Amino acid sequence: MANDITTRYQSILDRIQKACNDCGRDPAGILLVAVSKTKPDNDLHRLIDEGHLHFGENRAKALEKRMESVPDRSIQWHFIGTLQSNKIKYIAHRVNWIQSVHKKSALKEIEKRAGGFNRVINTLIQVNISDEDQKSGCDPAQLEEILKYAQDLKFTRVCGLMGMATYTEDPEKVRPEFQLLKNVFEEHQHLNKGSVQLEHLSMGMTNDLEVAIQEGSTMVRVGTAIFGERNY
Ligand SMILES: *Cc1c(COP(=O)(O)O)cnc(C)c1O
Repeated sequence: MANDITTRYQSILDRIQKACNDCGRDPAGILLVAVSKTKPDNDLHRLIDEGHLHFGENRAKALEKRMESVPDRSIQWHFIGTLQSNKIKYIAHRVNWIQSVHKKSALKEIEKRAGGFNRVINTLIQVNISDEDQKSGCDPAQLEEILKYAQDLKFTRVCGLMGMATYTEDPEKVRPEFQLLKNVFEEHQHLNKGSVQLEHLSMGMTNDLEVAIQEGSTMVRVGTAIFGERNY
């Protein structure tokens, strides 16, 4: 079946492989997060059967439900949506990565909740790289202060940065946004200390993952190309 989910999954792996070949990178350096959003659990299980381990959701309650319905402890769960501090409590017992932290108060809440379970949560700081206001993330100028705060946390690790490019049909148009995030990433490496170790750059989705990989992405978040179009 041409539209089968495992076929689509395979073609995403091929796209990542080809993008890496084209710019001389090792595909092992790109982590694929499958973004399931509203899609049924069965679709996830198909990917788990293929050996896929990293899954992302953009709503805390949806992620909570999803984590309950998939008991497999080897799965790594990523929260990638707009982060409201009062929702962290729904996911802290199980989430592995929170990719959308954009202020100190969110780190403080993650620290408290993760500490309550005596577990460590990996985070990425989301930086606003697009010119669309509704795409959240901190201003690059705020990043230093956030990272300095995070250095002393015990249950929260800051492992890198995340960014969402402006939506466009032509991925070439967002290349400068990815370059901006990569520059911000390089410029803050000197703040690696304690719980801050900037290693990951989460950028690239269905429409723009090739450009993101060329510009240094280490994590791509792909929904539509694996699970099909969404109704919202
Ligand atoms: C939905 C979503 C994605 C995946 O987008 P696709 O274009 O469907 O691949 C990636 N990142 C975030 C933050 C999302 O909300």
